[in-house]
Amino acid sequence: MSEIHPIIARPEVTRRILRRFKLHASHKLGQNFLIDPEIVDEIARISEIEPGESILEIGAGIGTLTQGLLESGGSVTAIEIDKKLIPVLDETLNGYENFRLIHGDVLKLDLREIMQNQSFKVISNLPYYITTPILLALLEQKLPITKIVAMVQREVAERMIAIPNPKNPKIYGALSVAVQFFTEPRIVLEVPPGSFLPPPEVDSRVVVCDVRKSPPVEILSEQKFFQIVRASFSQRRKTILNSLIAAGFDRVSAEKNFAEIGIDPTRRGETFSLDEFAKISNAF
Ligand code: SAM
Repeated sequence: MSEIHPIIARPEVTRRILRRFKLHASHKLGQNFLIDPEIVDEIARISEIEPGESILEIGAGIGTLTQGLLESGGSVTAIEIDKKLIPVLDETLNGYENFRLIHGDVLKLDLREIMQNQSFKVISNLPYYITTPILLALLEQKLPITKIVAMVQREVAERMIAIPNPKNPKIYGALSVAVQFFTEPRIVLEVPPGSFLPPPEVDSRVVVCDVRKSPPVEILSEQKFFQIVRASFSQRRKTILNSLIAAGFDRVSAEKNFAEIGIDPTRRGETFSLDEFAKISNAF
């Protein structure tokens, strides 16, 4: 750790910074700042940062995780929506080379433009109120991302890695399919509420998603695949056949398609593996 930069990831340092800038963590913006230097170090270690490697951090906060990523040698582009935090970051990360700050909403910014075709790792303690839209935006836009290392709430982490499970049908859903279609996800770290200021009401997990070079299942049309997946999970208590009809598919040809591939159309969406969703979408 460089001498001119005290470690931000400490409760007293974080409190001092917030006090000095007369700030309160915004619940609405999902501001739970890390205050545990071991967790910051562990996230940087897990991310296997190469010297000078391009990293996108979503939600820099007061620069806590950003600092750990910079100290690990990464070249960090950080996005932060809260304009009150911009002068804070200018100060806490002052002097770090290889740091670029973008003030804006990650869901509205042109990430392709930001990445300029370079390969990036996304490393972030995500704002929990928009975790799923952020993950889907990162995955579906086919950005040049090789790895996502994300702090998310425990329930979301479990959905990301879930497979069909009749004992716990509510966990597996469209997010599970999308994450596993584009990446190989694994939970690598458990983080208790006390590692944050203020502590969130939920437990947290760090999930590493290695982005796949090619999909794990063969599909004829990605658009059709996700149209079927989304329709299948949109009304959980319905059979897949009724869900697809509700989404506008024709009953007669749908029944014919299911018969041809030998899949029971009275099963519910949450019982289908990626492989079966691929088979169904290829038949439609
Ligand atoms: N990285 C810091 C840390 O680990 O302590 C802060 C993490 S905090 C959980 C999430 C951060 O995301 C907050 O600073 C919040 O202001 C920011 N944020 C919330 N919504 C955002 C959005 N739509 N785009 C960019 N940043 C956002």
